[in-house]
Amino acid sequence: MLRRHLVERGITDLRVLEAMAAVPRERFVAPECRNRAYDDGPLPIGEGQTISQPYVVAWMVEAVELGREDRVLEVGTGSGYAAAVLSLIARTVHSVERHAALAEAARGRLRTLGYANVRVRRGDGTLGWSEHAPYDAIVVSAGARRVPPPLREQLADGGRLVMPVGWGWRGQSLVRERRERAGNFTREKLGRVRFVPLIGEAG
Ligand code: SAM
Repeated sequence: MLRRHLVERGITDLRVLEAMAAVPRERFVAPECRNRAYDDGPLPIGEGQTISQPYVVAWMVEAVELGREDRVLEVGTGSGYAAAVLSLIARTVHSVERHAALAEAARGRLRTLGYANVRVRRGDGTLGWSEHAPYDAIVVSAGARRVPPPLREQLADGGRLVMPVGWGWRGQSLVRERRERAGNFTREKLGRVRFVPLIGEAG
């Protein structure tokens, strides 16, 4: 997976590659999918949702430019896999999932596997998790027409947000927004992706 799906497709950040190597993806998928855990594709995790393909997880984690002391918000915990990868690079990860069953399963899995710096909450991630804001990095693992305003508000100065934006048959653009000191945002389009929808009040 590391060589074929990540390095050969352009992932270069060693910390991301090490984290992807360290997290056992087979523990985040259903037993019947374990033989496909290291294929480069999404897999079902219940509630009509998916664990994202490894390349896209690595791409988003690299794109959000994490530092060791960073506080991260993830929207769309799903299986908890991306949260585990993020937690090996950053200081803390707060992750929000709208499906109660997925949030509970991810919380248990992350605890069992020892990812002690991750907290998972069931809720509407389009509203962020204001108690722990501001965040140095925000990763949104579901697509919407626009960046939810509460997420921009919860980003620290200098912070980065990575999210699939847009809708329609062509999927979304993966965008990176940066909050400048004056509270202005710059946006870069990184490439095409196809994510499940972000469903929520500010989505
Ligand atoms: N990062 C996940 C992983 O590693 O398994 C995969 C995320 S999956 C592609 C997208 C997730 O976003 C789904 O679990 C879905 O229920 C969740 N989601 C969609 N809208 C949401 C919202 N408003 N708040 C929180 N989670 C949301």
